[in-house]
Amino acid sequence: MFKFLSSEPVHDATASSTADTEVKTTTCYMCACRCGIRVHLRDGQVRYIDGNPDHPINKGVICAKGSAGIMKQVSPARLTQPLLRRPGSERGEGEFEPISWERAYELLTERLGRIRATDPKKFALFTGRDQMQALTGLFARQFGTPNYAAHGGFCSVNMAAGMIYSVGGSFWEFGGPDLDRAKLFVMIGTAEDHHSNPMKIALGDFKRKGGRFISINPVRTGYSAIADEWIPIRPGTDGALFMALLHELLAQGLVDRSFLQRFTNAPQLVVLDEGEREGLFAFDPAAGPPGDGRHPHNKLAWDLASGRVVQAYPEGVQEGRQLALEGHYKLADGTRVAPAFQLLRDRVADTTPEWAEDITGIPAERIRQLAREVGETALHQAFELPIPWTDAWGKRHPTTQGRPVAFHAMRGLAAHSNGFQTVRALAVLMSVLGTIDAPGGFRHKAPYPRHIVPNYRAFNDPSMIKPNTPLNAAPLGFPAGPDELAVHEDGTPLRIDHAFSWEHPLSAHGMMHNVITNAVRGDPYEIDTLLIFMANMAWNSTMNTMEVRKKLNARGEDGNYKIPFLVVCDAFQSEMVAFADLVLPDTTYLERHDVMSMLDRPISEYDGPVDSVRVPVVEPTGNCKPFQEVLIELASRLKFPAFTQEDGTRKFKDYPDFVVNFQAQPGVGFLMGWRGKEGTEHLRGDPNPRQWEMYARNNCVFQYHMPEDQQYMRNWNQPYLDFAKDKGWRQRNDPVQLAIYSDTLQAFRLAAQGKSKGRQPPEHLRERIATYFDPLPFWYAPLETACIDADRYPLAAITQRPMAMYHSWDSQNAWLRQIHSHNYLYVNPRTAQEAGIEDGGWAWVTSAWGELRCMLRYSDAVEPGTVWTWNAIGKGSGAWQLAPAADESRKGFLLNHLITEELPFAGGHISNSDPVTGQAGWYDVRVNLRPAAPEEPAETFPQIATVPSAPGVLGGARKVLAYLVPRKP
Ligand code: SF4
Repeated sequence: MFKFLSSEPVHDATASSTADTEVKTTTCYMCACRCGIRVHLRDGQVRYIDGNPDHPINKGVICAKGSAGIMKQVSPARLTQPLLRRPGSERGEGEFEPISWERAYELLTERLGRIRATDPKKFALFTGRDQMQALTGLFARQFGTPNYAAHGGFCSVNMAAGMIYSVGGSFWEFGGPDLDRAKLFVMIGTAEDHHSNPMKIALGDFKRKGGRFISINPVRTGYSAIADEWIPIRPGTDGALFMALLHELLAQGLVDRSFLQRFTNAPQLVVLDEGEREGLFAFDPAAGPPGDGRHPHNKLAWDLASGRVVQAYPEGVQEGRQLALEGHYKLADGTRVAPAFQLLRDRVADTTPEWAEDITGIPAERIRQLAREVGETALHQAFELPIPWTDAWGKRHPTTQGRPVAFHAMRGLAAHSNGFQTVRALAVLMSVLGTIDAPGGFRHKAPYPRHIVPNYRAFNDPSMIKPNTPLNAAPLGFPAGPDELAVHEDGTPLRIDHAFSWEHPLSAHGMMHNVITNAVRGDPYEIDTLLIFMANMAWNSTMNTMEVRKKLNARGEDGNYKIPFLVVCDAFQSEMVAFADLVLPDTTYLERHDVMSMLDRPISEYDGPVDSVRVPVVEPTGNCKPFQEVLIELASRLKFPAFTQEDGTRKFKDYPDFVVNFQAQPGVGFLMGWRGKEGTEHLRGDPNPRQWEMYARNNCVFQYHMPEDQQYMRNWNQPYLDFAKDKGWRQRNDPVQLAIYSDTLQAFRLAAQGKSKGRQPPEHLRERIATYFDPLPFWYAPLETACIDADRYPLAAITQRPMAMYHSWDSQNAWLRQIHSHNYLYVNPRTAQEAGIEDGGWAWVTSAWGELRCMLRYSDAVEPGTVWTWNAIGKGSGAWQLAPAADESRKGFLLNHLITEELPFAGGHISNSDPVTGQAGWYDVRVNLRPAAPEEPAETFPQIATVPSAPGVLGGARKVLAYLVPRKP
């Protein structure tokens, strides 16, 4: 229960009101789905929120979270003023004194200015689930520190990178299933998702039209409730299922051969001879340098029609060619080669359904049947849309080929240390069926598809970290080879989180989950100031929670904190706030401007780009300021070049002014609607001083519909590629061949094997790189398995997002916590009974890394080898203004206590993450169960000391509930 809960009735439903009412539109942020909402105000205060029927994302639909935004606005846990840790108090005690914003700015300007003028990398900026990475990334780049990332490394970077390095796009914001035209929908590793309302709307329509929906998941929850079939699978084994499906599809000839020949690298010839070109694509020296991830087009293929080697482009796609997908060949100089598809065929030769049955728990016959189902639906129920289109080699296709099998996947695949190769396997599976950007299959959303590899190099030059100097590249990006890693000459990491190092080379989203441990260890160096925005690193956003809390308080031999200055910006008094030296109170989404930008994470639809904004519908509470405003102010005071005029004065008045006037390239800014001085240009044009006003008048959204002949096959659709380049979404207009085989991964492997001339990894990482940087997808057991006694920990333990809550924000929401005030561990009855635990009983859950006590419930909707719970419902006592004895802290729990943030490796340690991308391996943990003793307390373990209220916190549940009482005239 909330503190100070009143017993007085506070709601008088019969009272009349003469108050002024008003409705304003903005964009929801109760989850990352970004639906349009209408906020109903009375006397300037929020009284009701519903869905905006005129918004393209949700068309008026709203979910429980969205309508409960009103309770976020008036949450007792709202911070309302900047706070400084009280001198002499310890971090974690939550002892603060209020200060003014001017004092906070002075402190930060002095400290950050000093760091920037001496050693900029000693400042680290890491942000949680924000939607402003174009701004936060720019801030870090202008500051001159490489130590920046958002939350993707501990969220779903495996999904993003695995797909982008294979097909040029990914699920959710970047693409998704075309349920309007699919006949079969296979959802894997997804429960409640980011793409919440649109997915539910689309699924409802799909089912009504008779579509068949198969859900593959260890647990049947969320969307799976309406699946026609649930196929339980053991966590971390999805890659084995995909490899077996590929085995069957190839064995049965259920592949789209003409698609593979024209639109993928399947026919391109791979060198088989040992040496520095081994495993790379053969090329024609007369045509220029070899094709690679940055310049993929100088490749060769074998033409069966003429019996000779041809240039893959444009010769290989000319009429009359018949490119070999199988076989072994010799080039004129005797080099042995084979088409990439032949190597895939070899790879899946042994990944039979029987092999996969042992790993996944899915019967071999069901896997065979599933392969037939997806293959026959894609190929035998194919259809054509009467939409002619022109490909990158000038061929006019009279129709657009539909492939009515759609897949969707998310964190269930991604949050494992084998997730990158698992997602690669799914991408290859979708590619051999010809479903990429095809009607009924997977569809891209602008600005995707990107190049493979995307033309965004991450900052990687140590000599460019200089005092008072912006970096020469953005801190995050997509490496295309060893030479683009962020490492020193000796191979040691450049960044505090070790992202883009040999430990995790393709960590495209950074590795936020390593920052605190590495900073405390001084590995690779010590930092001075860590600024954390909207991430609860002292609780549910970290692995090994109790140890990380100790690290936040760790002191060196000189008695000073190992992380000398810790700044936390948040709207609420989360568990993390207590550890801050300086607290910056953020606003809610109803109190600020925001952009969902094409420079960042837009809300595009399949038929064209869409961006949107938030506009303030109420004034900020207390002394709260939007974090964006704080960054603009600091950037201006610190005189970052991009924020300063030539005469030294500030360039941008505030954040709205910045959004309107900042241009990433001429005519390309944060927002693409109503550009140009008159507001008559779209997508590209000069800044328009009235742009915010236009968005506010148009439901806070701008939508552009591409012509029909540019809505499909966009990896190769020349008019689309030209258009996208013209609008600044891509640097080149050349086609994006799907990477069945990844020469980028092979380049890393060759370096690890000592076969290539450039950079090579340190000795202790050679075998790791050579193993996991396989150019073809493969399945391996999650890394934790090799570090523990598997017999002792026989159960996989995972978490899921509840449908009514999104991260820790919502488990303190007065309405939503009435749906879930605590969580259980859900266990198959057979498994629980074998452990001697009754339904509703207390149990100990133990991993190799820690243990916890919680309540357990029987559930038939989970396969017997898996236990699971909702994430982020458990709370620290007193945090979030919940009463010390609230259910959330006494009965709620975090699985995080059982998960290690590092694994033993080569006599040392390494992040518990995917070895390719650095994605946190949240779902790898293995556990066992035992009943709690009857005399043990009926409360979860571990518990933390009760956190005191922060000064100025909004507080008072009575006030929250009384908020709904109509005011007497
Ligand atoms: S799905 Fe997400 S964005 Fe949409 S209404 Fe619900 S909480 Fe808001």
